[in-house]
Amino acid sequence: MLKREVKFNREKLLEKINKEGKKGSNYIWKPIATTTGKHHLIRIFPYQYYTNLQKESEEYQYLPFIYFHYGIGKEPSIICLEKNFGEPCPICEFVEQLREPNMEKEAWKAMMNISAKPNTFAPVYIRGILNSDGTIDETVVGAKTAKYWRLTDKTYNTICQIVLDTEVNDVTDPEEGYDLKIKYILGNTPGNDTQYPLIEVKEMKRPSKLAKTEKEVEEIASSLPSLFEIYQKKTYQEITLILKKWKSSDSGEIETEEIEDDYTKTDDKNDSNDKLTEDIDNDLNKLLS
Ligand SMILES: [Zn+2]
Repeated sequence: MLKREVKFNREKLLEKINKEGKKGSNYIWKPIATTTGKHHLIRIFPYQYYTNLQKESEEYQYLPFIYFHYGIGKEPSIICLEKNFGEPCPICEFVEQLREPNMEKEAWKAMMNISAKPNTFAPVYIRGILNSDGTIDETVVGAKTAKYWRLTDKTYNTICQIVLDTEVNDVTDPEEGYDLKIKYILGNTPGNDTQYPLIEVKEMKRPSKLAKTEKEVEEIASSLPSLFEIYQKKTYQEITLILKKWKSSDSGEIETEEIEDDYTKTDDKNDSNDKLTEDIDNDLNKLLS
């Protein structure tokens, strides 16, 4: 019989997963389908690190959002310097160069593909898995830690809808907010007859505190670094170089968006993207010649 040479140790494994390094991915949470069909129990709390630009922005940020550029070569995403920091951004400048009046649809799509896009993040405290008797299973991975939950537009809208419910008010309030029950339902399963996974968000019946004491609240909030510590910005020069490399590469490959949880998107990686690549290449050649 095949045996483990190193004994399986659940506690040690949990410890490793929960504490390992300061790598960005360790600060990102996403709901998974629980085998028992139970809900994740989380609490969104106020973001501590709004930049002046974010605070002064005319776009209201109930939850913080940051702008990324996607589709530039092998880089999964690049922090936009202009939209996030009000600094010159080589990619935004390039997008402006591409912009023309009465653009062809494909060229416009190619331009939009690399223009900066906002992504919303919710700072969340993961309580655990909600048992049917109301107790919380805190032995699951990530329980009792603070993370960022990167929201799809659909999930963000659902949360906003809960917030707009007058009885609920601001769910993020550390004193009088609400825990949220999250359920990830796989496609083509009971409760979800679409082929895409579905994220169900519901507020708990009663308001509650984020934590028992002020000190605990502070500990939770301060255990989460700012979004820009996790998604670090590159310098103007670095981005220029990446852009230049991408422009000059033969493939000029467009990476599909790295928004992991964007279920609403259909899988259109094939033909349309090849066309998109071609169009961008043509635009680039024009610009570079
Ligand atoms: Zn930009």
